[in-house]
Amino acid sequence: MTLRPNYFLNKFFTTNAQIIPKICIVGAGTAGFYAAQQLIKKLKTPQIDIIEKLPVPFGLVRFGVAPDHPEVKNVVNTFTKVAENPCVRFLGNVKLGTDVTLKQLRDAYHVVLLTYGANESKKLDIPGENLKNVIEARRIVGWYNGTPWDKDLDIDLSGETATIFGQGNVAIDVARILLSDVDELKKTDITEYALEALSKSKIKTVYLIGRRGPLQAAFTIKELREMLKLPSCSTIWRPEDFVGISEHLANLSRQKKRITELMLKSLEENNTQANKEFKPIFFRSPLELVGTDKVEKVILGINKLEGEDILKQKAVLLDKTEELNADLAIPSIGYRSMQVESSIPFDFKRGVVQNNKSRVDKGLYVSGWLGTGPIGVILSTMGNAFEVADTIVNDINSENLVDKPKGGYEDIKNTLIEKNIQVISWQHWEKIDKYEQDKGVKLGKPREKVVDIDKMLRIADSSL
Ligand code: FAD
Repeated sequence: MTLRPNYFLNKFFTTNAQIIPKICIVGAGTAGFYAAQQLIKKLKTPQIDIIEKLPVPFGLVRFGVAPDHPEVKNVVNTFTKVAENPCVRFLGNVKLGTDVTLKQLRDAYHVVLLTYGANESKKLDIPGENLKNVIEARRIVGWYNGTPWDKDLDIDLSGETATIFGQGNVAIDVARILLSDVDELKKTDITEYALEALSKSKIKTVYLIGRRGPLQAAFTIKELREMLKLPSCSTIWRPEDFVGISEHLANLSRQKKRITELMLKSLEENNTQANKEFKPIFFRSPLELVGTDKVEKVILGINKLEGEDILKQKAVLLDKTEELNADLAIPSIGYRSMQVESSIPFDFKRGVVQNNKSRVDKGLYVSGWLGTGPIGVILSTMGNAFEVADTIVNDINSENLVDKPKGGYEDIKNTLIEKNIQVISWQHWEKIDKYEQDKGVKLGKPREKVVDIDKMLRIADSSL
């Protein structure tokens, strides 16, 4: 791979003979890029290498954010500026835990910052979860967004009902994509194979099951408004779920009050043009998924709420159940981080890297969903990344972290060569990016993503 000229200039010493801080960020997602941005601002001339397991950058901004939310993806312009800074180098197609070890990184760099996110799903842990067509929301998101390992997802959209467990924004994203007009989705960067499957979909009703009530719902007002405005879809609530809710309005925070008022208002509304239905259901927990060849229905436990603080009330199962159709069942109860290497101190209960205000060990830090847990949005992840970068800068200045020159990438390069790893530079990514955008122009969309890793590597290697 080609290195920028001033990289060699800066390799060990700055002009005033200070040692160059060599920093390795693991994961080219939101936390990784924002931390790098802040580190460039606060340190004089650091050398920051961002290693990323995929040949393409941007993590969940590329593979999570819904295709019909292009405005959210504008953050990639900021990330691109960071990557183009001479102090920063993107090293794609390099996976921590497989291609390189944490020890190798810690030996080669003064600071290692782990930001490899949350790439697994939490499980429902109920009977029937392994039936065909029970598919985690994370995998459906990956399918329509072109995650390489979800491109061949075996999803059957020939039934009329999809039942989603969980009421967060990811659950709403999946519901909206299943219920949207395909003509609208065509203009987005959704993958062509997903578009084709969705154009043949027979799904008419999407249930959104929550354990607790309308006051505890996890979706936000923007996402709810989008559902209510879907042209060919009617949102149908169960009036009995809202008994007594309006009495609490006066005591709610402004934000909570607005979303509750919107739900109450839409109770009365009905979209007469609609041929599809979005049906949120509260106070229900999935107990069992039932089917022969594939999932057919779900047995739901009926809950009551207990606890003083109305917003923090807990769902408690009553001894009553009911059944609901589910031709497709979609658990959407959260993402989960992984311990990619046994040397990484990991809190398995919370599913995060063990840390004390982002510090893991001397010279080792964590940020983003890997450190905070899989909660919050790009803005909150940015805030966390900035804080962690400030901590790193403080520690560099006060704890003598940069006491002797270190080799950085030069020290791990040979390992990667020996393992035959094709390291992807930012210039390589730009070729893939151009290829995707050119393909998108032909299809009348912003881009058509390359979903095959070998193909990404071929394009990167080509003389396009
Ligand atoms: P990530 O963005 O996941 O970055 C982690 C990176 O690490 C990835 O690139 C991954 O490939 C890489 N990696 C993983 N393992 C390794 C390894 N072993 N070695 C090297 N690299 C590795 N927020 C909003 O503000 N608006 C939205 O509309 C929105 N929609 C969302 C939709 C979905 C489905 C999801 C799941 C989240 C959404 N979010 C949204 C939240 C937002 O995406 C996150 O807050 C943010 O991306 C988390 O950033 P991160 O850096 O912690 O993780």
